[in-house]
Amino acid sequence: MKKISFNKPYVAQEEINSVTDALKGDKISGDGKYTKLCNEWFLKHLDRKSLLTHSCTAALEMSAILLDAPVGSEVIMPSYTFVSTANAFVLRGLKPVFVDIRPDTLNIDEKLIEDAITDKTVAIAPVHYAGVGCEMDSILNIAKKHNLKVIEDAAQGVMSKYKGRPLGTIGDLGAYSFHETKNIVSGEGGALIINNKDYEDRSEIIREKGTNRSRFFRGQVDKYTWVDIGSSYLPSDIIAAFLYAQLDKAEEITQKRMKIWNRYNDFFKTYEKKGLIRCPIVPEECEHNAHMFYILFNDLETRTQYISSLKEHGISAVFHYIPLHSAPMGEKYCRSATSMENTNRVSDTLLRLPLYYELEDEDLNYIFELTQNFMDKLGE
Ligand SMILES: *Cc1c(COP(=O)(O)O)cnc(C)c1O
Repeated sequence: MKKISFNKPYVAQEEINSVTDALKGDKISGDGKYTKLCNEWFLKHLDRKSLLTHSCTAALEMSAILLDAPVGSEVIMPSYTFVSTANAFVLRGLKPVFVDIRPDTLNIDEKLIEDAITDKTVAIAPVHYAGVGCEMDSILNIAKKHNLKVIEDAAQGVMSKYKGRPLGTIGDLGAYSFHETKNIVSGEGGALIINNKDYEDRSEIIREKGTNRSRFFRGQVDKYTWVDIGSSYLPSDIIAAFLYAQLDKAEEITQKRMKIWNRYNDFFKTYEKKGLIRCPIVPEECEHNAHMFYILFNDLETRTQYISSLKEHGISAVFHYIPLHSAPMGEKYCRSATSMENTNRVSDTLLRLPLYYELEDEDLNYIFELTQNFMDKLGE
């Protein structure tokens, strides 16, 4: 039987060459030659200072430390997200406050944010779901009015834009992921994008175990010492070498994914017109990166049936997220500020289809053929 996995990390000769070269160098710990090359790439493409981390989770944890907020302070975010968005703040004794998502983009509903603000609120953490930008102008206005920081969880948003601005460069801080399930990968990996100059010095220190080692290496201090809290958030240069090879062909990877995304979208539009499913909605002002192709069913039962019918034929399609507000940790450490109607419905009805660089046309044809059988029966 033909097998189509949900994801397959793209590894080519360039990555192997780059890693081999890194291994031959005299330094394989962090902040070596390849980390610098990655930083140059970010500077060129985002016009921002970036710090490579070993994950997006690490970048979010660094953001939570940078907030420097008293225990019990609140951070507004969606419940429909990966655990790290909330966990990073809970680790610092902060309280995630959940707001429902918009029915169209499945991003945090910016219209609900203001009512969720209390005198304890210190930040908003929008998540750019599926690499489609949140309504950032509204979010920035609210943040400005209430003196809040904005931390973008742009884990899925590398190479996406909102009104021409790269996701991750719009708030005070942006967190990227290079986990193998994302578009640009290094196995595990991430970056913190620094958009607010106030955070430049301290972010470097936090990433280097709370020391001023980076300043020492630049000759700005004559010895380095423990000056703040921090941890080891930097990746080895071997990881950076892998990442650099990927960043170098980021355009090509995005274009290939976009072709696949568009084929899915064209195919599923037929069934959307029949009212059987709904396709993703990308607002005019957003340029997405084809991170994810999902469909929304009308109910949980149909989604379950579709998943098993694909599985019977060797195709793996998956759903996510269990909303954080309904998870044991969410109930214990977080608060919901609104109804979670859209979050709950999407959690029950969304399905992600295989999408990766090496997914072939014939794989797609096979998925379409099986889907057509399923949908025809459904439409009867
Ligand atoms: C993948 C993901 C993360 C975590 O990324 P890691 O690099 O695995 O730590 C965080 N938030 C969102 C929205 C994600 O999709």
